[in-house]
Amino acid sequence: MSERVPLVIGNWKTNKKVAEVYDFLQEIQGKLPDPKKVEVGIAAQDIYLHEMVKRSKELDIPVSVFAENVHWADEGSYTGETSPAALADIDVSGSIVGHYERRKMFKETNGSVGLKVTATLRNGLVPIVAIAEDATHYNPDDEDMAPLTEIAVGLAGVDKAKAENIVIAYEPAWAIGASEAPSLEIIEHAGKVIRKSLAILFTQEVADKIRIQYGGSATPENSKEILGLEDIDGLLIGRASLEPAAFLSMVNDAI
Ligand code: PEP
Repeated sequence: MSERVPLVIGNWKTNKKVAEVYDFLQEIQGKLPDPKKVEVGIAAQDIYLHEMVKRSKELDIPVSVFAENVHWADEGSYTGETSPAALADIDVSGSIVGHYERRKMFKETNGSVGLKVTATLRNGLVPIVAIAEDATHYNPDDEDMAPLTEIAVGLAGVDKAKAENIVIAYEPAWAIGASEAPSLEIIEHAGKVIRKSLAILFTQEVADKIRIQYGGSATPENSKEILGLEDIDGLLIGRASLEPAAFLSMVNDAI
């Protein structure tokens, strides 16, 4: 049996006003499972992160707070960017890196993803590395598929000693914000290909420790089955994470 503790993260994107953020935290207070069984996180807009960390500590809510994006430099002249060192300083746990929406709308590349992954790890943060592309070309016969470009290029500079702290979020572009998730067969196949790619890059032992999340139209209706797949160790949830009840239901499915 896998020793990987499932990790379920809500990606709030550019949603919620401050009062809604506080209401959400109050709604989930006392309702999250033991973090030894399931780790829970929320990725929110930068302006809320500091207060979310403080409130979740005060209210004793076992939730990790994540940024949705991060810069690769710890400091300097990069107007409008957020430093990984500053995130670590306020006890943020990590950041999503290379989400499909950033690749598509803000021209992020595998190269910039690589710099950001290295920067987060250097600062003791967990990078949630989003993979959106080639894995979506599902081919059940292609068991020996080459390492995914996004992994091969995006993670090439990562120190093997730190690689087990990476989390991969498999989010096929066409399933994000869509009406339904891919079949279980597609998700399971992608999970295997991703783990194989990680093993080529970092060794099988390290690959077996890295958590792979699924993301893209995950809902309370399909989460249990997805979480039951061998190579899937959690979820990255967009829309369904905005409602506390739906989010809690999906978190509990990970137990
Ligand atoms: C996402 O964009 O990270 C995501 C998973 O979105 P949704 O769940 O809304 O498809």
